[in-house]
Amino acid sequence: MSRLPLLALAPLGFAALPALAAPPAVVTDIPPVHALVADVMGDLGTPTLLLDRGANAHNYQMRPADARALQDAGLVFWVGARMTPWLDRALDGLAADTRTVALLEAETTFRRDFGDAAAHDHGGHDDHDDHDAEAHDTEEHGAEDHADHAHDGLDPHAWLDPANAHAWLAVIAAELSAADPENAARYSANADAASARIAALDARLAADLAPVRDAPFIVFHDAYGYFASHYGLNVAGSVNLGDATAPGARHLADLRDRLDAQGVVCAFPEAQHDPKQLAIVVEGTEVRLGGTLDPAGSLLDPGPALYDRLLGDMAQTLLDCLAQN
Ligand SMILES: [Zn+2]
Repeated sequence: MSRLPLLALAPLGFAALPALAAPPAVVTDIPPVHALVADVMGDLGTPTLLLDRGANAHNYQMRPADARALQDAGLVFWVGARMTPWLDRALDGLAADTRTVALLEAETTFRRDFGDAAAHDHGGHDDHDDHDAEAHDTEEHGAEDHADHAHDGLDPHAWLDPANAHAWLAVIAAELSAADPENAARYSANADAASARIAALDARLAADLAPVRDAPFIVFHDAYGYFASHYGLNVAGSVNLGDATAPGARHLADLRDRLDAQGVVCAFPEAQHDPKQLAIVVEGTEVRLGGTLDPAGSLLDPGPALYDRLLGDMAQTLLDCLAQN
């Protein structure tokens, strides 16, 4: 009787399971995680991607086929409950022998809080944001506490820092190897190759973005902190909050004040969201409306090439507007 809960709590616990002769059925949450997992699996298998093309990663309605894929999964890789509360709920109903890996919680993941963005280093806006006081006090709380204000505390958009791609490739290879030891060498080699490729891309992007490091810009939702801090970019604010929910009138008025105060150069709309809201914020100012950003790669072709494409497209869209002078 008492053995089952103990087993469920044991870390990994694969020693107790029979060795599998084949790669496990793998399910992933969003396109960039799917891409990294597809990279590590290579020819050995293809992970399932839950999020539909063009869907909002924070608010997704799973379909019956998604629920079946989850039921059949041996391994689930996802960012975590702060990113996709809809998947958190679905995972609650899974069999105990399904291994779920929340990458945001991996020991090697670099994590940042909302509010660590460059926008908050500029002073003079002391009254604009009363969320900051609690921002460092929320790590231990469950996702449910944050359903309505996920912009406090831990920022879940961690794939946008390439350092986390390296960390996650290693975690993914280790988990796949534990589930499928016969192919461990191949998972490891695939992860190493992907890491080397992403390191080369990262170096190129850092060089490309260096000239626009100081150019302040605003975005549609607060998803770009990891990308901005990795490349030293200057995000001056966002229309919507970190969970893509709409803020109040006071936040918008403050954002508009900041356009002038901080010399904002560009405003970037986002896939799945009407660019009109951003256009209204910058109306009558010198701020240029940039191209559409797609932080979760929701409009790209899923597959191993997507991660690189996502980062490259993001850098290029930023450059196309910020580099104009
Ligand atoms: Zn987001």
